[in-house]
Amino acid sequence: MILAVSSLKPPHPRYRGRFAPSPTGPLHAGSLASALGSWLDARSNQGAWLVRIEDLDAPRCIAGMDQRILAQLQACGLTWDEEVLWQSQQLKTYQNVLETLYSDRQIYPCTCSRQQITSALSSQGKLRARNQEQIYPGTCRHGYVWQAQLPEAMPPSAWRLALKPEQVIRFSDAELGSQEQNLNTDVGDFVLLRADGIVAYQLAVVVDDARQGITHIVRGADLLSNTARQIYLQGILDYPTPQYRHLPLVLDPHGEKLSKQTQATEINTASEAAALQALQAAALHLGLRNLSDGQDQTIAEWLLQATHAWADRTKQISRTQN
Ligand code: GLU
Ligand code: ZN
Repeated sequence: MILAVSSLKPPHPRYRGRFAPSPTGPLHAGSLASALGSWLDARSNQGAWLVRIEDLDAPRCIAGMDQRILAQLQACGLTWDEEVLWQSQQLKTYQNVLETLYSDRQIYPCTCSRQQITSALSSQGKLRARNQEQIYPGTCRHGYVWQAQLPEAMPPSAWRLALKPEQVIRFSDAELGSQEQNLNTDVGDFVLLRADGIVAYQLAVVVDDARQGITHIVRGADLLSNTARQIYLQGILDYPTPQYRHLPLVLDPHGEKLSKQTQATEINTASEAAALQALQAAALHLGLRNLSDGQDQTIAEWLLQATHAWADRTKQISRTQN
């Protein structure tokens, strides 16, 4: 154990936001709206805005897509303030955190196949509908004997977090108001290291948000259901919990979330006028009305105006929440 978890505690009191794209495809209308929302939130708070490339899930990443996304952000005037961080270069850090969690008896190996989980759940009468996430029945946790240190000669397996009982997580979302999730009944012992050796999103995002001193997380509402898990992890790792704000999703004409699967098309940033048009569409999705049409404006001028509009919208939301 080289790096103590407490040494990861960030010393930054000022606003620090971030955009954390996965390089699985270029920016589309939905991801641009998330990027713009978090950029505007940082700028309207005179804060710093960071970009982090979440490229741990190598089989889903596309070579060169990180650079393409960075170029798209740049073409849209969404500039960042510090060096870009690639998660694939932080593996040692995640490993250290996993070792700490192991020595705190917080994680255990799980060798259950999907089928084993399903049959265990169905024999307990706890199988959920097909489209719902199944709650791990704890099979491998029962009877597991923790060693003093993470055993080296271990068959490859997933590592799950041993949730403490009665973990009802509550938080106030700056966009959506008060939120609550019971981790034991809604999520169960979730995976922090996958059986294929890939560090799970939940762990990496929490470690990096803390290491980068992120104070405000503004992202799409599709990530809302992950937030309670992340807040729980922050608690056991002794990290501060940032303020969360989940933005309305951009939907396709069928009311489905835009993603590569639903053929979300790449935003056009071939010219300044095209990029401005993409930004305007994103601003409308974020609920910013009455912005000028951008005629005779540079992107920088339009962004400044949008920053003020964002600050007004934020004030309105916090008035209706209080
Ligand atoms: N990398 C995640 C995604 O692209 C976002 C992570 C986050 O903002 O927390 O969906
Ligand atoms: Zn198991």
